[in-house]
Amino acid sequence: MSHDSFETLSTEDLTLVAGGSQLGNARRTAQEMGLRITSTTGGRHAPGSYHYSGRAFDAAGSHSQMSAFYRAMSKTSPTELFYDPSGGIKHGRSIGPIGGHRDHVHIAY
Ligand SMILES: [Zn+2]
Repeated sequence: MSHDSFETLSTEDLTLVAGGSQLGNARRTAQEMGLRITSTTGGRHAPGSYHYSGRAFDAAGSHSQMSAFYRAMSKTSPTELFYDPSGGIKHGRSIGPIGGHRDHVHIAY
């Protein structure tokens, strides 16, 4: 079997693919970095939360794992990225720590 016709996408190309794949990539990265996915569409979240539309997940781990994950994900233009005390990003703007996100990183695309 030949795989000559398949090209490996660069990381940059991958981040240009639709939100679903970005979320999938982020989820894979979280797991590779040793974090646990604690919530996807289940659980209780703010009204209108991206969790309900399957565009968000929460990941938990040690403080160093979560801050490393926050830093890595801040470069992927997420729609929402929250982790106290590292900070918060909403629609590309840095809004600072929003509270309530000390034990997990919230990410949405
Ligand atoms: Zn969340």
